[in-house]
Amino acid sequence: MELPTPTTSRPTPGQLTFRAPRRGKPPRHLADFEPAERKGVVESLGHQGFRAKQLSTHYFERLVADPEEMTDLPKAVRSELVHDLLPTLLTPVVRRQADDGQTMKYAWRLHDGAIVESVLMRYPGRVTICISSQAGCGMNCPFCATGQAGLTRNLSTAEIVEQVVWAARALRHGELAGGDAGDQEAPLRVSNVVFMGMGEALANYKAAVGAIRRLTDPAPDGLGMSARGLTMSTVGLVPAIDKLAAEGIPVTLALSLHAPDDELRDELVPINTRWKVDEALDAARRYFEATGRRVSIEYALIRDINDQGWRADLLGEKLNARGRGWVHVNPIPLNPTPGSKWTASRPGVEQNFVERLRAHGIPTTIRDTRGQDIDGACGQLAAATA
Ligand code: SAH
Repeated sequence: MELPTPTTSRPTPGQLTFRAPRRGKPPRHLADFEPAERKGVVESLGHQGFRAKQLSTHYFERLVADPEEMTDLPKAVRSELVHDLLPTLLTPVVRRQADDGQTMKYAWRLHDGAIVESVLMRYPGRVTICISSQAGCGMNCPFCATGQAGLTRNLSTAEIVEQVVWAARALRHGELAGGDAGDQEAPLRVSNVVFMGMGEALANYKAAVGAIRRLTDPAPDGLGMSARGLTMSTVGLVPAIDKLAAEGIPVTLALSLHAPDDELRDELVPINTRWKVDEALDAARRYFEATGRRVSIEYALIRDINDQGWRADLLGEKLNARGRGWVHVNPIPLNPTPGSKWTASRPGVEQNFVERLRAHGIPTTIRDTRGQDIDGACGQLAAATA
């Protein structure tokens, strides 16, 4: 599966528009380019334009990584094109499984040594991958392991897409166990992608939206996934939420709220000092109006911090004040990060929080926590790998 590692940067002929990757920048990759740009890129590298479509078919449709399998390309052309447009972006450094092999965590080393992680989870009838959009994160939420480490850098579009392509290949090769008997018969493919790994994707807007386009563009331009299967999770960067609503790709929006009042949210989600609870909720409501997609509210239940009944009531009131049927709440028990003074709410308190929200008519489901024993659960990514 490994691609040959480029040794030298190949000189590009003529007056070219596409520069060799700068030191520090991820290598240029086919998945960084819009379908309409690819022919020009391939031509600028001295190849015939129709090779672009062949390469796209290999990458997005056939999920081929090994140049030997690209038999419709002459050998010399094959190695040049793979070197130039399908370079190795992710090198696996750790692969761990949990939940009887139905959950897999991958830690990847990027070209510059930065580490990011993805988690692949199989459920009856669907397979979800949780992907990273940044190495580290700049949002500094005190309960999140990634937030503690700070931001290393943004990922490129292709570095984001490649996590999903890698997962699709792993499924094809039977790396993920489980499912019920009937499920075994169904062809396995990645059905859901959640931007809930490392990073604040909306702070890396261009690359994240580029990745959404690559995932949803029909094959062979992209992976041909349904936008309904994608979830963009955010701390609540209001202008970026509005921008995303205008993109015309109806992905699900998840807003990491964690508190219904500014006093507490200022502490739990520090960007709240810039965009307040009411502004974030208004943006979430606008997102629903623009896309018709019901918004998810993420709420990590932290013992004696944000799990009081009155906070459930306040949340229910604030959501209902903006209409009915536009939102649901996903509480999740906090996964305590190493050394954290905080822990998960007691089960009875959690249940009470859920019931209070339901009493307001808000659909509420506790989110499951897969992969806790492999540091693959929410907020745990990467801390244990470095
Ligand atoms: N930057 C995005 C994605 C972050 S991870 C965002 O903030 O939404 C996805 C979800 O996991 C977010 O809701 C985040 O708040 C939550 N999370 C982070 N650390 C957690 C922890 N220790 N326990 C439970 N949920 C956590």
